[in-house]
Amino acid sequence: MARIELRNLAHSYGRNGTYALKPLDLTWEDGGAYALLGPSGCGKTTMLNVISGLLRPSQGQVVIDGRDATGLEPRARNIAQVFQFPVIYDTMTVFDNLAFPLRNRGVAESEVGTRVNEIADMLDLGQDLRRRASGLTADAKQKISLGRGLVRTDVAAVLFDEPLTVINPHMKFLLRRKLKQVHERLGITFIYVTHDQNEALTFADQVVVMHDGSVVQQGSPRDLFERPAHTFVGYFIGSPGMNLLPCRLDGDTALVEGSRIQLAPGVGARAAQRSGPVRLGVRPEFLRLARNGEPSIGAEIAAVEDLGNYSVVTVKLDGHVLRIKVPEGETVEGTTCQVVFPPEHTKIYVDERLVE
Ligand code: ATP
Repeated sequence: MARIELRNLAHSYGRNGTYALKPLDLTWEDGGAYALLGPSGCGKTTMLNVISGLLRPSQGQVVIDGRDATGLEPRARNIAQVFQFPVIYDTMTVFDNLAFPLRNRGVAESEVGTRVNEIADMLDLGQDLRRRASGLTADAKQKISLGRGLVRTDVAAVLFDEPLTVINPHMKFLLRRKLKQVHERLGITFIYVTHDQNEALTFADQVVVMHDGSVVQQGSPRDLFERPAHTFVGYFIGSPGMNLLPCRLDGDTALVEGSRIQLAPGVGARAAQRSGPVRLGVRPEFLRLARNGEPSIGAEIAAVEDLGNYSVVTVKLDGHVLRIKVPEGETVEGTTCQVVFPPEHTKIYVDERLVE
């Protein structure tokens, strides 16, 4: 078990002074189920490789349980890593593949047997233990890879780098659930890298969102949904993502062209202390179509998409496009509507950062 701290850490591969990881401080608490989420190229693999020791950072420290581990070889860190594609020995049996990391460290054969059986049970590989790995499907091979990452009892953390890429969609769902159960049972720190928000939000208790070499938010799935700290989190998470509109502020009122939208008390004063472009952000789930004359803003209806248990209504507000999620059963008719912006869910971003 371990607490992993990254202190003033950064990494550049040495091309034109660009940083794959910009200076950051980040703590992974002992026993946490984390997802590291972000689009391709944002620096996720670089961060994993720095933690596991495959890559030495150009700056800063990796501290594991209070000890500076920056210069330690991967083997000395007791961190297991599971890669995107299966890393197994085709000619060996499933049992021997799972046993390999233990035998490699001189674990007694009786203990090897117990542990391999335990992990094989958790991953439903028990019936395949005597088979050669070469005859197995890609799914089963990746399960063996997962098992090899989980089999040691002395690991501080297990890092998963997009481990379900090769798995078929139905199996993906089952394996993700399985990994969550295994995490609950083993209580080891898991860091699960993915670019898929569904994977991140269903697996993790804490999600670390990366964008362009920086961590833009660390929080629970609920935090990311209700209080995106950065506009990137707003539009990357959610389907559709957060509506973001350029605006000006007048006290606690946002002016989107000619429309006046009420904000939560104090937001205007806090925003005024910062500089940069100002945007209003509100999730499609929090906007409502007005009933009974409540305070609202007039908009034109551009499209209604029926998606089964909800509809997405696209409206135009002074030339800006907004999406609203409307629950099943609520009819949307005509060419215009009135939109309610609940002040507690109508956020202001200055220079892309949330005004708390
Ligand atoms: P993906 O999901 O596509 O793997 P990622 O979020 O894991 O992306 P990284 O692989 O960490 O991102 O890459 C971050 C940046 O560093 C990218 O611009 C990438 O091109 C660059 N990069 C990664 N590995 C190397 C390398 N060995 N040499 C030079 N540049 C690299």
